[in-house]
Amino acid sequence: MSEKNLKKRLSILTTVVILLSLCLVAGGTFVSKYLGDLEKETMYQSLENDARKYKNDLEKQIDADFQTLRTLAAFLNSGQRIQVDTLIKGLSKSSEYTQFVRMGFFEVNKNGLRVDYQGGKEEFVELEAIFKEAQELVKKAWNGEESFSKFYIDNQFQKNVIAYAVPVYEDDVVIGALVATNEDTVYKNILDNAKSTSGKGHTYLISSEGKFLIEDQQKGDKEDIDNIFITNYVQQVKKVEEALANKEYISSTLKYGGYEYEVFFSPVGVHDWYIMNVDSVENVNPSMHTTMTVIQQMFLFILLLVFVLIVISYRLLRSSNQKIIDQAYYDPLTKIYNSTRFQQAVSERLNSNKRYALVSLNILKFKFINQVYGKIQGDLLLCHIANVLKSNMGKYELYCRENADIFLVLMEYDSYKQLHERLETIMQEIVDYSLHKHRKHEIIVHCGVSYRKHDDTCDKLLNRAIFAMKQAKGNHQNLIIDYDEDVHQASQLQNYIESHMQQALDDEEFKLYLHPKFDLHTDKLQGAEALVRWIRKDGSMIFPDQFIPLFEQNGFCVELDFYMVKKACAQLREWMNQGYEPIMISINQSKLMFYQKDYVKKLLAIVNAYDIDPYYITLEILEGLSLEEPTKLNDIILQLKEVGFRISMDDFGSGYSSLHILSSLQIDELKLDRVFLKEVHGENGYQQEIIMKNIIQLAKSMGMMTVAEGVETMDDEILIKEIGCDVGQGYYYNRPIPVDVFYQEYFQNQ
Ligand code: C2E
Ligand code: CA
Ligand code: CA
Repeated sequence: MSEKNLKKRLSILTTVVILLSLCLVAGGTFVSKYLGDLEKETMYQSLENDARKYKNDLEKQIDADFQTLRTLAAFLNSGQRIQVDTLIKGLSKSSEYTQFVRMGFFEVNKNGLRVDYQGGKEEFVELEAIFKEAQELVKKAWNGEESFSKFYIDNQFQKNVIAYAVPVYEDDVVIGALVATNEDTVYKNILDNAKSTSGKGHTYLISSEGKFLIEDQQKGDKEDIDNIFITNYVQQVKKVEEALANKEYISSTLKYGGYEYEVFFSPVGVHDWYIMNVDSVENVNPSMHTTMTVIQQMFLFILLLVFVLIVISYRLLRSSNQKIIDQAYYDPLTKIYNSTRFQQAVSERLNSNKRYALVSLNILKFKFINQVYGKIQGDLLLCHIANVLKSNMGKYELYCRENADIFLVLMEYDSYKQLHERLETIMQEIVDYSLHKHRKHEIIVHCGVSYRKHDDTCDKLLNRAIFAMKQAKGNHQNLIIDYDEDVHQASQLQNYIESHMQQALDDEEFKLYLHPKFDLHTDKLQGAEALVRWIRKDGSMIFPDQFIPLFEQNGFCVELDFYMVKKACAQLREWMNQGYEPIMISINQSKLMFYQKDYVKKLLAIVNAYDIDPYYITLEILEGLSLEEPTKLNDIILQLKEVGFRISMDDFGSGYSSLHILSSLQIDELKLDRVFLKEVHGENGYQQEIIMKNIIQLAKSMGMMTVAEGVETMDDEILIKEIGCDVGQGYYYNRPIPVDVFYQEYFQNQ
């Protein structure tokens, strides 16, 4: 898995964890809010009950007040003229049930009498002299209507009072009005009685405009506040105002003295009065509140626990992911990038068009260091190399341990020279490492460098750098080798050839080509040389120069040469069967052939198999062979000649030719190497011509036939004719051609 993928997975995981946590928090908030709401709901219900109770009590009180007044009114209706004393009596009597502060009687449309609880008495009091609130009531009572006022302050006694008025009848006719003012303490007591639920909250009677009318004994939540709608006391003012105006129940919160309380408004049904209950949840229903708090805390605890678990498992996962990343991308020993990560990073770097060189660095005989100094020392050396690289690399440069003792480096460079200098510094720092206190061991480093061109991929650069590095193999010096494309291609071809040669032979990819030779006396076809061509399945052709030297080294030439003899014989047989005269075919024989056991026998077996007279087969041997073991060679030549083969000495003059050899070997034909014809046209051309002429004459004198190779022009032909050569071969006549083309050109057309 790539680092990108891992990171992607990690980020998905992170998102999931965050979402999960958010869900938990949301769930927690929801549950907590739900529980809170439930709690509040219960509280409101209880407060509403309180309000109802108060309302009842209040109504009862008002009824009682009226009842008292009515009784008094009936008493006043006894036919006598109403006296102050009577009123005083009535006032004192009523105090058992009410707290009347004053009492007065106003005859219809006349001035009245007034008494008060402190013993004051007045006669002929003008209606206009009493409190405005009371005046209204009196007028209503004259009309036969009972009514009571809102609260107002009686200045004289500094008391908050309510006034009541009832009509006084005589024979069903209203003769006057009885008024009394009752002190607010009565209503306060009711208020105190009403708030039974928590016993800790506060209850107020307020007007729908928010004005405080009366409050219970325990002051505390308001102090100097007259109206609930002053800033930042009751919250959600608008909503509350509206509800109060519409005589609706409403709940809200209240802030006072840094605390927050629940507040609940219930209409009383009298005037525009409202009961305002102020309390806190924990007061109203302590047991429920405790349960709720416990549940909430438990929930919070679980939430916390889950969260901690998530975080722990997330961290574990992350660290295990990190471990995977480390394992996948870092070399465990040196802690630097491994090859995989390095290659990824290089590919990214290559997107920029900076000049980059990829260097592969190898320690010579590292195995040996491990064996002699121990694995620990070996490991330390590797760590030392990693450190050297670390300290020498720039911000955008990369390095890694490829494997074992091979390190890779991606470097920026200005010039080859500058890069080589940097590499030399690095190599020096590496080899300065001391493996042993007393013993001195020379550490040797080889570097291969490939320079990035155009759109080279990381893979390509890597292969090239390693290839260049391997070219230093076996060299006991610190070396920096720059990659060379030609060398690489040759090596790749060599690899291809070696790994495919057997298969190619089995698949008949080696083809017989024929290069015609011409008799210079008659200008007629004298024969042809068999030349091999390797034609691959894709149609591409590999020339013998590219593989014959290799086959000579690896011995495969023996198999190939026998195969070519077979192919040549098979071709001759085919043509002969078609009725053509056989032609002379020369076949190149590698020197390895002469070291083959039963060489002659095997050749003979082939010609016999195709029923070909060995006379038509000329075996071309190389000049160089004669230098190695002339006696043995001559012995084999004799054997070959004895069974009928012709022998030709190929490439004569190309190496250390010796005329002496000519005389010592029993050969039938001498092939002058094409260098002669080349040099004839050069500086010492004339001398060359003389040498050629002499060689030909010498060969002729020994009864050999002479063949000139490399005839490319008409001049060449004229020249070789002049100097007495017998046969010519070269591009002037034709190129080496496939057998079917050869057949068309030299058989069919004649
Ligand atoms: P070679 O035996 O000297 O073969 C002649 C080479 O010279 C051939 O190259 C031929 O194409 C080339 N040649 C012929 N006339 C001219 C000319 O006018 N101008 C120039 N420039 N070149 C000319 P080829 O076919 O590439 O073969 C190269 C060598 O590979 C041969 O040199 C021979 O040593 C070897 N070879 C070819 N086929 C075989 C084979 O089947 N077995 C063995 N052992 N060696 C072979
Ligand atoms: Ca040849
Ligand atoms: Ca030759």
